[in-house]
Amino acid sequence: MRESGLPSRVINFGGNLEFCPAAIVAPRTEADVLRILHEHRGRRIRAVGRLHSWSEAVVAEELLLDLRHLDQIDVRDDEQGPVATVGAGCQIKRLLAELDRRGLTLPSVGLISEQSLAGAVATGTHGSGRSSLSHYVAGMRIACYDPVTDEPLIRQVRGGDELRAARCSLGCLGVVLSVDVRPRPAYRVEEWFRLHESLAEVLAAEPDAPLQQFFLIPWLWNFLGQHRRESTQPRSWLAPLYRAYWFAAIDVALHLVLRLIVRVLRRRGAIKGFFRHIALRTVIRGWHVVDWSQRMLIMEHELFRHIEIEMFVPQTHLPKAVTFVREILEAFDGDAASLSPETRAALTNLGRIDELQSAVASYTHHYPICIRRVFGDDTLISMTSDSDEPYYAISFISYDRPVERDGFFRFARFLSDSMSALFAARPHWGKVCPLTRDQAQRLYPNLPQFREQCVRFDRQARFGNAWLDRLCLGKPDS
Ligand SMILES: Cc1cc2nc3c(=O)[nH]c(=O)nc-3n(C[C@H](O)[C@H](O)[C@H](O)COP(=O)(O)OP(=O)(O)OC[C@H]3O[C@@H](n4cnc5c(N)ncnc54)[C@H](O)[C@@H]3O)c2cc1C
Repeated sequence: MRESGLPSRVINFGGNLEFCPAAIVAPRTEADVLRILHEHRGRRIRAVGRLHSWSEAVVAEELLLDLRHLDQIDVRDDEQGPVATVGAGCQIKRLLAELDRRGLTLPSVGLISEQSLAGAVATGTHGSGRSSLSHYVAGMRIACYDPVTDEPLIRQVRGGDELRAARCSLGCLGVVLSVDVRPRPAYRVEEWFRLHESLAEVLAAEPDAPLQQFFLIPWLWNFLGQHRRESTQPRSWLAPLYRAYWFAAIDVALHLVLRLIVRVLRRRGAIKGFFRHIALRTVIRGWHVVDWSQRMLIMEHELFRHIEIEMFVPQTHLPKAVTFVREILEAFDGDAASLSPETRAALTNLGRIDELQSAVASYTHHYPICIRRVFGDDTLISMTSDSDEPYYAISFISYDRPVERDGFFRFARFLSDSMSALFAARPHWGKVCPLTRDQAQRLYPNLPQFREQCVRFDRQARFGNAWLDRLCLGKPDS
């Protein structure tokens, strides 16, 4: 066992959370983990991955366990096909590379691959056109305490509510040591961009492009479809050029210019002008490119620090939710007069119209709003848990400097409060997540079963923190 490379003051990727746990340790083996749990009995313990979450889910009050050294990968076949047993701290990019060598890949990935597998799974990390990664988890090994002897032990989770809780647990069941995930054969994805005038038009492309995601372009209010489907075509010979263009023009140049406008120029007019006249010129439309899924679906979005809230809306509410989002963004920017009578009435009924009036001109949104379709998960509390209806995850990213995010946080809270009430929208557990205890209870009908599992694994609630106590574990506010 060695001290972790983390400094004693821990800062997450987004720079919105800073905390100083009493101790930080980076075990090298499962035996180390058990020894640490034994030595720290009675303390509150949190395991973390790569700290890419923006929510308080990562905050460790006393002992922080950094599991980066538990990163082994073992791929074998069982009666249902290939299964990979992966150390909790293994980064997804390393797992993807290892699976690729065997002609396999993950069934679902997010926009980046920097996360640890256990961290990504713990918050229901997702892409588009599939369930979240959590859904594909077949088993887990979790270190926790024996309810009778209070000695540390390892529990193997394989099915039932135990597994449904463990698949998206926010770290509440204990320290995840390894995750069994079912890979699928490697596949290629064909991608092309097209601009659409309306939501209906971009959704109409879904049957032909089931893996698509699309962007509501702020201040232009068109929809840019990033259409994607599985393909049996060979890799395009221009794919390396496409990747180079994507990295240089989108991942780097576009984001540098955006940051310059947002952080240095800081003019609302410049932001709007950028989206109305420049942003779309950087995207090559109509070029169909085929490449391996892990190259096509993942970008280098971690290059520049930012912050994000993402709201999951059930499919039936999507059209109204998108109209609502546009009106709220316009109001926060300064134009409350253009609120439709329907939205005004809905906010008046919720008792939130005055809050919106007082927030006018407090935040100008400055990033394309990514919308992804996510299918139901067989879990207890991931954002698409237990749903036959797909959800659409609507994401809002800000590149404001960390000390200048008041407007964004105000917007995020308003969005979460109003959209959870109006559209049963669930904020991503790993992103900015301003849920209240009552909202969480209303949005997640399986929360009582989740709590039951938490008590079975962790009778003394040692693996939580104050935020989780309030939202998920049902403990009274301290
Ligand atoms: C640039 C960027 C892009 C992103 N893109 C997407 C995306 O496309 N889709 C999406 O859904 N999300 C996305 N996310 C969110 C990200 O996938 C999640 O926040 C994920 O949980 C981060 O993984 P991590 O390894 O950093 O875990 P952390 O943030 O360190 O931890 C997340 C949670 O997992 C728990 N945990 C971690 N390891 C263990 C363990 N061994 N045992 C028990 N509990 C554990 C922690 O306690 C915490 O509750 C993105 C984040 C960033 C910064």
